Amino acid sequence: MTALVYLEQTDGAVDEPSLQAAALASSLAGGADVNAVVAGDTVELAPAGPLPVDAVHVAVHDAFGSYAPLAIAEAIVELAGRMGATSVVGPGTERGNEVLAHVAALLDLPLAANCVSVSGDGVTRVRWGGSLLEEARVDAPTLLLTVQPHAVAAEPGAGDPPRVDMFTPALSDAALALRVIERVGASTGGVSLADAKVVVSGGRGAGSEEGFAPIEELAELLEAAVGCSRAVTMAGWRPHTDQVGQTGTKIAPEIYIACGISGATQHMAGCKGAKRILAINADPEAPILQSADYAVIGDLHEIVPAISAAIRAVRSG
Ligand SMILES: Cc1cc2nc3c(=O)[nH]c(=O)nc-3n(C[C@H](O)[C@H](O)[C@H](O)COP(=O)(O)OP(=O)(O)OC[C@H]3O[C@@H](n4cnc5c(N)ncnc54)[C@H](O)[C@@H]3O)c2cc1C
Repeated sequence: MTALVYLEQTDGAVDEPSLQAAALASSLAGGADVNAVVAGDTVELAPAGPLPVDAVHVAVHDAFGSYAPLAIAEAIVELAGRMGATSVVGPGTERGNEVLAHVAALLDLPLAANCVSVSGDGVTRVRWGGSLLEEARVDAPTLLLTVQPHAVAAEPGAGDPPRVDMFTPALSDAALALRVIERVGASTGGVSLADAKVVVSGGRGAGSEEGFAPIEELAELLEAAVGCSRAVTMAGWRPHTDQVGQTGTKIAPEIYIACGISGATQHMAGCKGAKRILAINADPEAPILQSADYAVIGDLHEIVPAISAAIRAVRSG
């Protein structure tokens, strides 16, 4: 059994969802022959430090200077074919799912996306934004899957760093054409929404773009990421990168502070991994209260600044 896992990196460090995917790949291979692949425009991009894999293969090509999903997929297909991989695993992030979907299309094989567990050819995976778990059998010579973020514990690896190999993939013209040419920075103040320990989110109840000022202030005090509901992104008050939910980011913070958010199923699909939920809502009947551990009923424009003031008062002694 030879497993190949695609790793995504940020600033030279392997992302948490990729470490989770690596843990699942390792269990598929029985910990025996676990390989990782990363893509970069220089071999220097090989991740440093221990990882739960035997070898890291760095696909080096100028095309990987920016995100190029089809090119990454072609590199993965080339490598998987050469090593006779029995499974190819990726993180269940937007990019991980996109890259593995290209891999599946290139190999003309099914992809089981957003898996929470795998046993042989049987997979359990998240469907419909988390409202149901599907059990399926994958009938394919190579198991292609992505791992639902936060469903599997990450294993950072121990001992010596894995062996690093470098290869230059042969890429098609089509693959070279499909790439990111411009980036627009996210507005989460440097704290990644997906990995934040604390998230302060606002919904339609915030009332306007300016209505997010007290939410941002509280988030800054708590070193938290700012999130929001789709009602907010649809209104253009916040960018889509801030959206929590089925069609936004899936989060698993220690505490989720939801201000003026009703708790629609599609929103809760993104925050049900939160260990605790504090709901601040004017409506004592709001659906989010059924999932909340703590609730404050009232106007968020009074309550949120009051919490910030209380935190400042405590900190100033
Ligand atoms: C296919 C599909 C995918 C979707 N994906 C997502 C998704 O990823 N994420 C997502 O969030 N939604 C998603 N939605 C939309 C979702 O169904 C809801 O419409 C949306 O979550 C509602 O946002 P909201 O809670 O901010 O607004 P509302 O439902 O309008 O709720 C506003 C809340 O604010 C409270 N409130 C109002 N004023 C105040 C105040 N001054 N102080 C305190 N509380 C106040 C109200 O009591 C109410 O509970 C999706 C929908 C579909 C169909």
